[in-house]
Amino acid sequence: MADQPADKKFFENLSGAGKAIGVLTSGGDAQGMNAAVRAVVRMGIYVEAKVYFIYEGYQGMVDGGDNIVEVSWESVSSILQVGGTVIGSARCKEFRTREGRLKAAFNLIQRGITNLCVIGGDGSLTGANLFREEWSGLLEELAQSGKIEEEAVKKYVYLNIVGMVGSIDNDFCGTDMTIGTDSALHRIIEVVDAIMTTAQSHQRTFVLEVMGRHCGYLALVSALACGADWVFIPEYPPEEGWEDQMCVKLSENRARKKRLNIIIVAEGAIDSHNKSITSEKVKDLVVQQLGFDTRVTILGHVQRGGTPSAFDRILASRMGVEAVLALLEATADTPACVVSLSGNQAVRLPLMECVQMTQEVQKAMDERKFCEAVRLRGRSFENNLNTYKLLSHRKPDTELPKDHLSCSTNFNVAVLNVGAPAAGMNAAVRSAVRVGITEGHTMFAVIDGFEGFANGQIKEISWGDVGGWTGQGGSLLGTKRTLPAKYLEKIADQMRTNNINALMVIGGFETCDRIKQSASGTKRRVFIIETMGGYCGYLANMGGLAAGADAAYIFEEKFDIRELQANVEHLTEKMKTSIQRGLVLRNENSNENYTTDFIYQLYSEEGKGVFDCRKNVLGHMQQGGAPSPFDRNFGTKISAKAIQWISKKLRETYRRGKVFANTEDSVCLLGMRRRNLLFQPVVELKDQADFVHRIPKEQWWLKLRPLMKILAKYKTSYDVSDSGQLEHVARHSPKEADTGAI
Ligand code: ATP
Repeated sequence: MADQPADKKFFENLSGAGKAIGVLTSGGDAQGMNAAVRAVVRMGIYVEAKVYFIYEGYQGMVDGGDNIVEVSWESVSSILQVGGTVIGSARCKEFRTREGRLKAAFNLIQRGITNLCVIGGDGSLTGANLFREEWSGLLEELAQSGKIEEEAVKKYVYLNIVGMVGSIDNDFCGTDMTIGTDSALHRIIEVVDAIMTTAQSHQRTFVLEVMGRHCGYLALVSALACGADWVFIPEYPPEEGWEDQMCVKLSENRARKKRLNIIIVAEGAIDSHNKSITSEKVKDLVVQQLGFDTRVTILGHVQRGGTPSAFDRILASRMGVEAVLALLEATADTPACVVSLSGNQAVRLPLMECVQMTQEVQKAMDERKFCEAVRLRGRSFENNLNTYKLLSHRKPDTELPKDHLSCSTNFNVAVLNVGAPAAGMNAAVRSAVRVGITEGHTMFAVIDGFEGFANGQIKEISWGDVGGWTGQGGSLLGTKRTLPAKYLEKIADQMRTNNINALMVIGGFETCDRIKQSASGTKRRVFIIETMGGYCGYLANMGGLAAGADAAYIFEEKFDIRELQANVEHLTEKMKTSIQRGLVLRNENSNENYTTDFIYQLYSEEGKGVFDCRKNVLGHMQQGGAPSPFDRNFGTKISAKAIQWISKKLRETYRRGKVFANTEDSVCLLGMRRRNLLFQPVVELKDQADFVHRIPKEQWWLKLRPLMKILAKYKTSYDVSDSGQLEHVARHSPKEADTGAI
């Protein structure tokens, strides 16, 4: 394309013509695998490669025949929202043997497949790597036995492999999130939320067993996301005497008028002697020592079930596209890689480095080197564990930092919510209050945003006051959109009167939560959905990607009548295929004249006789409901970091009884930038914000827009300058643990 900048790399310059890609799912199934399969197929076909389903994992590859079939664009229609894997998964003993792999190689060669996308856990990926290493030897053997021509050995000399980790356990090193983990967390949190109401009514203790034979991620993050009283995970066995400590904690919580207790146990939880801690054992202990009415719930396969979350669909779609790019770019020297996400950035990592690191975690646990195991799991895991430790136990007053004559460590810190309520705000407040108290500060809560602050609605808030807040939607402190400008004097007065040294503001220009949009099976119908977000098109765009939309109109990317016409024509064409359903998203402020009604009428008129339309304005339901596990966890961790930063700043700028703040860096915004959490001075942000429309001038997710278009069969231009670099699995030192990662 003529207008492409020379320093950028655009994927349409890459061609898959003449290549054949096989895609398979192997090992345990996970929600989101289908989204990955769909993305591989569509991206593969988009670049003119042939794509083959390999049914039933490696078993299908070994058996060949109907198990390996070429697929079309439509073959993956309407699978994005389906849980599990439509191409089947299996464990295959034969593939572990050389004979089995020889058969598999033969079956692939028959169809000219030399590119494989493997979606599975560490076992499946290890197998894939071995297969790749043996490939040329297998071909020689096939040629010697006369099964294939010598020519074929030369022609198909390399096997390229790209892995995507599909595993609900999130047990694979090098990746922040594996496909399926977020959906499994959704399932767990749905159960915990449901259980909490009954536990509350009957003053019960619930012991909840979640999956994770070797990895405590699900248990740990669920515990963070529901504010559990106690969690048991394999990587962090409780200290000697934990039985008494746990019971003391449970009864203390009850004494604080908490009517229920939640204890989460990972399947593989162990004590410091490597003895397993089962949910039954925990229950018996609570009953014997405390006499509490205690019930056990074992979640089992429910965690693998249900529809994939928006996050998993987006993750898997991005990974699938990246996997095809990696295959197109692979050479004889590129090692087999896994594609994954780090922060919100796609990365490629050498498969075997990840597998080795994952195995090292197990080794460290077997050798009871638990600190090492936690460190090897990665910064994000370690950060989760540290945050959990920080928030679950209130240190006794004697252990809190105290005032010193020369250097005060105790300050008054206020927390307030501003803007529209967003799911996850309460988790953030809870975390701020508890971390603040642990840091030795006195915490204050401001009611009803800046307006409330101006009217003196501020009060001290304690550890117990925020108990149970993580799971609640909306803003318990109350929030208003009013900006402080009009009340500056009064707010300053309140700051003085209450001697507030620092203020933590939780809110945003506009709240962007994630949205789930399930497509319907109805025929010949186009759904036009209006999403919220003010001028920010994030919801429309990401909702579109998660739901497999045909178009998403947003303010950030101008559209005109030609674009609308092209979309209508595209949908008319689509109705001629077997996919007879359309989905169009429109951000509420995307265009003042091309309103949702206008678009609905235009599509209805132009689609007459071919499709009909329905429209739906999602409205405030998008802000309501219980926060997702991601929002709870993100709110909790980001807030903990913010308070730690505030504490550090206060200490640094404290002199002779006063805090000296400068405007350069004492007012910062904490947020995720690419791969890390960054504190950015608000003065700098001024240049990067569009104040009229209340959005950042640069929106990172805009680069994902072409993905939605490609997967909906539009020809488009996709900048891949950011992807493509093969990185290495980071081994971080313990000191790094509290930087960057979320
Ligand atoms: P999960 O995380 O759900 O356990 P996984 O991919 O680790 O998924 P495994 O049962 O370990 O699941 O492996 C799935 C399949 O991958 C095996 O049945 C086997 O066919 C193949 N496989 C695993 N390890 C190897 C290996 N070392 N060599 C060859 N093939 C292997």
